[in-house]
Amino acid sequence: MTRFVPAPDPFRPTAGPRLLDVRRLWAEPDALASARGQQVRARFPDAEIITVASHWNIDQLHGNAGNVDRWIRVKTEDLVLGVKKSLTARPNGRSADWIAPSTSNGCAMACAYCYVPRRKGYANPITVFTNIDKIIGYLERHVRRQGSKTVPNQCDPHAWVYDLGENSDCSVDALVSDNVADLITAFGAWPTAKASFATKYVNRDLLDLDPRGRTRIRFSLMPETDSQLLDLRSTPIRQRIAAIDDFVAAGYEVHVNFSPVVVRPGWKEDWAELLEELSDGTGAAFKAQAAAEIIMLTHNEQLHEVNLGWHPKSEELLWRPQIQQAKRSQSGMWNVRYRNDVKAAGVRTLTELIAQRTPWLTVRYAF
Ligand code: SF4
Repeated sequence: MTRFVPAPDPFRPTAGPRLLDVRRLWAEPDALASARGQQVRARFPDAEIITVASHWNIDQLHGNAGNVDRWIRVKTEDLVLGVKKSLTARPNGRSADWIAPSTSNGCAMACAYCYVPRRKGYANPITVFTNIDKIIGYLERHVRRQGSKTVPNQCDPHAWVYDLGENSDCSVDALVSDNVADLITAFGAWPTAKASFATKYVNRDLLDLDPRGRTRIRFSLMPETDSQLLDLRSTPIRQRIAAIDDFVAAGYEVHVNFSPVVVRPGWKEDWAELLEELSDGTGAAFKAQAAAEIIMLTHNEQLHEVNLGWHPKSEELLWRPQIQQAKRSQSGMWNVRYRNDVKAAGVRTLTELIAQRTPWLTVRYAF
């Protein structure tokens, strides 16, 4: 079945090269032979097929910390097909109750603060996991085992929430295969659960699906000036806000994800303006069900070094040692976050702004 029609799209991110212009499919044999693998192949019939033993450790694709032109070409021109081996839903408790087993890994966009490349390196094109039936079967059993949610929490008052997009952007993944469409359809039939993903891309193909209120899309928002510098290859903020009402009308629950919040001179004024734009640009149906999460910037020393090599201006915003503190992560990396006092003041300022400018917007959690 083919559905990919790369027609001119008024909501295409920014001028410049296409987000995806796939020339090579790096495929595990079983993944390529599967129905989902064949669907991806049919969407990109001219791509050269390169057989690989594993979707991990493809030397020609992964790593590449030093050269952004190279890694954006890889993100644009290469796709990987693999089989997801271990299926587990991890407890989360912040934005979602569970992190669902991923159906993809990697991204065609290139946000300067992105932590997704931490395992595969910066040139991390999209890997599609083709065993979608197994993943959905696992999720169905997991949902059934939970029974009904009887105690409301910050994730949702009634439904068990499963985050689908920890390692990718699902709106872009939906350009590549029907994995995301299949998940949205599956959750539509599970009355005790809800799918959820944050996105920086407006994919209007998703409006044709029937989510039945069981998928929450969290549009990531930040002031346009920050986004232009940091959210490379994503849909402009204005267009994300303009899409919100359409997604509500199509049966999605739509929340906003204020992430990452970057503290810099003038940030409060720009966030106040963004909140006004959100209020002016959306209708009553969205406002009646809206909620927000606030996530203050976290950064990473290695990513800082890489960014200095290709996009030093982004580091003027992201790397502020005088107001940040470092903490060694479990994987041995030095992660950097705002000092406790700076972070607490930032959260307080933004929640006050929300109370003033968008009083209809519940803050689901701030971190
Ligand atoms: S959209 Fe998300 S996954 Fe993609 S580069 Fe940006 S932060 Fe990373």
